[in-house]
Amino acid sequence: MNFENIEADVNLILNKHYSEGRGGKSIDKIVVHYNAGNLTCEGCYSVWQDRAASAHYQVESSGRVGQLVWDRDTAWHCGVFDQNQRSLGIEHANMADGTITETCLDTGAHLVAALCKYYGLGRPQWLVNVFPHKYFSATSCPGQIYGSQKDAYITRAQYWYDVMTGAISTEPAEPEKPATPLPDALKRFCDLDPDAWYIKPVEECVLQGYMGGYDESHFGPSDALTRGQAVCTIANAARADLTDYLEPFKDVAPEPYYYTAVCWAVDNGVVAEQENFRPNDSATRCEFATMLHNWRGNPAPAGEPTGYPDWAEVPDWAKDAMAWAVEQGVIGGSDGRLLPNSACSRAEAAAMLANLL
Ligand SMILES: [Zn+2]
Repeated sequence: MNFENIEADVNLILNKHYSEGRGGKSIDKIVVHYNAGNLTCEGCYSVWQDRAASAHYQVESSGRVGQLVWDRDTAWHCGVFDQNQRSLGIEHANMADGTITETCLDTGAHLVAALCKYYGLGRPQWLVNVFPHKYFSATSCPGQIYGSQKDAYITRAQYWYDVMTGAISTEPAEPEKPATPLPDALKRFCDLDPDAWYIKPVEECVLQGYMGGYDESHFGPSDALTRGQAVCTIANAARADLTDYLEPFKDVAPEPYYYTAVCWAVDNGVVAEQENFRPNDSATRCEFATMLHNWRGNPAPAGEPTGYPDWAEVPDWAKDAMAWAVEQGVIGGSDGRLLPNSACSRAEAAAMLANLL
């Protein structure tokens, strides 16, 4: 059955028991019937040779559809001639209990939808544009199509109508974009977004051994970089020999983890010697930039950068370092702002270090 063009699987057009034309009336409804039997299209044709009755379509239990009266002509199916002139009749083969098969229901409902669309009758609805035979005559027809299968039938017709009018799509949903895999070096981390902006620099920092995770599975990209982590990161990047700072035994790692890195950082001017190091405080973006700048020997910047509305927020002690960091492309700014006093996230630190190196 071609539902778009309303072409049945088989045309077995009757030569009697119908009326030519529609008396000038137009189609405004579909009337649904059952065979009170399980007939084929050929079976209907045969029955209507002897009985003064007909319908436009027969839907077999297998879903095969036959056309027996052309749509333009009046079939004799609902018992009221005026209604016959205004309607299309669809017969359905049925089981002994008056129900129709799932295939017959689906095909019949699809045909109803196709005809509603083709003739502009609107979305199928019982007693609006789709009627049971019994609405017009005293009959048990159409059996369970207007009984236990009443809702299923019209719901299916509406579904097909929506599909055919494009209100819903039967196209398979757009296949989900395959997830971007994490680079191999980062596969062990469960808290990294493979599509995030920071993946490249974090990968480089992990590959080069500048930064690790908190443990085997957490990198903490959005966590603030602590000052203790900051000096460890720079010491790693500098390939500093921290064994010089192991005391009192060269084979006992000191606690806390950042101890040797802080010693190295003070010795090498990366951080100033001061009473308190505040290892667990967050490093601000300009603090980390200053550590990097110190590590590289405090090169003088060419001048103050322009175009950053929050440049005035950079503390005096960090101005050279921030100007240098902007010049060197170490710090790019976020939406055109430097956010100098914001905590530097671990992902931002990785990016600054990767930019520098
Ligand atoms: Zn009927």
